[in-house]
Amino acid sequence: MPFFSVTKEMAIGTAVLGVAFATGVLAGKKYPFLAFGIPRSSKTLLGKGGPLWQYILDHSLREHPVLKKLRLLTLDHPWGRMMVSCDQAQLMANLAKLIKAKKAIEIGVFTGYNTLNMALVLPDDGKVVACDINEDYVSIGKPLWKEAGVEHKIDLRIKPAIQTLDELLADGEAGTYDFAFIDADKQSYNEYYEKCLRLIRKGGIIAIDNVLWHGKVLKPSKNDMETQSLHHLNEKIFRDVRVNISMLPMGDGVTLAFKL
Ligand code: SAM
Ligand code: CA
Repeated sequence: MPFFSVTKEMAIGTAVLGVAFATGVLAGKKYPFLAFGIPRSSKTLLGKGGPLWQYILDHSLREHPVLKKLRLLTLDHPWGRMMVSCDQAQLMANLAKLIKAKKAIEIGVFTGYNTLNMALVLPDDGKVVACDINEDYVSIGKPLWKEAGVEHKIDLRIKPAIQTLDELLADGEAGTYDFAFIDADKQSYNEYYEKCLRLIRKGGIIAIDNVLWHGKVLKPSKNDMETQSLHHLNEKIFRDVRVNISMLPMGDGVTLAFKL
C-alpha cells in the first residue's frame, strides 16, 4: 500500500468524524447549552424559582430551624434579595466542615444569614470575623445568633471591611484563617481577595459571591464599575497560580478558590 493511501474504512471513519464535528460546532453555535450537554428544557427549569430548582431545594436543603427563621425574616426586608442563596450557604458550610475550619471571615454580613450558617458549623472555640458597615442590617439577625446559641463565636466588626482585614494582618493573623466569604461592595473585591489570600492558610478556601453579576459580566459596560471590577477579578483568578478554582452557577455565581 502506498505511504499516502488510506483504506476505505479509514476514509469513511474520517468522513463520519468530520460530519459529527461540523454538526457539533453548528449545534454549539445555535444552541450553546447543547455544547455543554445541558438540555434546553432543564436550563429553563433550573432558573431560580423554577420547578427543578425547587426540587433541588426540597431534596437537599437541610436548614437549621433558626437559619430558616432568619431567612424568612430577611425575605421581608426591602433589601432581602441581598441575602446569600440558601443552597450556596449550605455548600459553604459543608466545605468548612470538610476542611475542619475553625476560623472564618465574612465580608458583608447584611442580616447575618451566612454568618450564622458558618458559626453553626465551627467548633465551640471557633470564630467568624463578621465585617459590615451597617449596624441596622446586622441588628435584624443578631438576636437569632443568640437564639441559635452561637453568638460567642461571632466577632462582629462594624467598620469598612478593608480596615478590619488590615487589623487582622497587623495582629499577625496571616495564614491562620480557614475560610473567607467575600460578599460586600463589588468595587473592593480585588482588595478583599488579595488580603484574604494572605489571611487564609494553605488548603483554606475563599468563596467569592456574585461573580456572574446577573449576567452583566458577559458585556461589562465601560461606566459600570461594579461589573468591571467583577469581570477583571474573574479574569485574574482564572490565571492565578496561587489557587485552584471552581466557578459555580449557584445563586448569582460563586467562585471557590482553594489556596495552594
Ligand atoms: N453575606 C450576606 C448574607 O449572608 O446574606 C449578604 C451580604 S450583602 C450582599 C452586602 C453587605 O455588605 C451589606 O450588608 C453592606 O452593608 C455590606 N458592605 C457594603 N460595603 C461594605 C464595606 N466597605 N465594608 C463592609 N461591609 C460592607
Ligand atoms: Ca451576594
